[in-house]
Amino acid sequence: MKPELLLSRIRVVLCRPSHPGNIGAAARAMKTMGLADLRLVQPRTFPDPAADARATGAVDLLNLAKIHSALPEALAGAVLVIGLSARRRDLGPPVGQPREMVARLLAEAEQGPVALVFGNETVGLTNDEIQQCHATVTIPTNPEFSSLNLGAAVQVMCYEIRMAAFAGGLAAADYPIKPCSTSLATHDEIEGMYAHFTAVMTETGFLNPQHPGRLLPKLRRLFARAQLEREEVNIMRGILASTQNPTGHARGKPPAA
Ligand code: SAH
Repeated sequence: MKPELLLSRIRVVLCRPSHPGNIGAAARAMKTMGLADLRLVQPRTFPDPAADARATGAVDLLNLAKIHSALPEALAGAVLVIGLSARRRDLGPPVGQPREMVARLLAEAEQGPVALVFGNETVGLTNDEIQQCHATVTIPTNPEFSSLNLGAAVQVMCYEIRMAAFAGGLAAADYPIKPCSTSLATHDEIEGMYAHFTAVMTETGFLNPQHPGRLLPKLRRLFARAQLEREEVNIMRGILASTQNPTGHARGKPPAA
């Protein structure tokens, strides 16, 4: 696939950005590197003259930016979601280096849309937002001062993407593609599977919704390592459904043949 087409499949998602200037800076960072699909989840102020001013020649990206009321909406259809986090998280998804993750992003963009998710300037990504990512990236920094400006973080990632995409197949070679794979499952299909797990585990009493502990984050980590395909999600959901009777209550044994 042509590098330009791969780049067009990469979404940049900004979660709850507080400063419109940073939205403009992100648009400029994207356009200079050939990306165009900007998504804003609950921006505090947008549109705004400060965003236009910082975007300069990239105002067209701002005009085309989609605004979403929640993160899952911005991730619908994405086959890979990578969160950007300045901090290591306790029970988050697997963490990778920017170059390694960009290689994976480009390899999976061959199969469908992919997304990079950036957090709010003050609090970063919330745990709930991080849990929706299949992997995370921390940009290496001075350990004593590790937080980049939002627009700068977008620039670093977009630069790495452009370098890898135009390296003439190098990126794909860096990232081994699994043999015999069917289509990758999308973010919404995988979230549907987690909702199904939650329902069945609640019905069987394995999960107490009042005291969920770390069960769900641990399941998410497990499946994030597996790079689920659509067929595999369907199998998991079939198994889950087989424990439920028609009223939706688990009965703990598979249906009679
Ligand atoms: N104080 C916040 C940082 C917010 S910076 C925190 O501790 O998480 C705004 C966003 O820029 C972050 O949510 C992240 O998406 C991105 N970012 C900033 N520095 C980064 C780094 N070193 N590695 C990866 N992402 C970074």
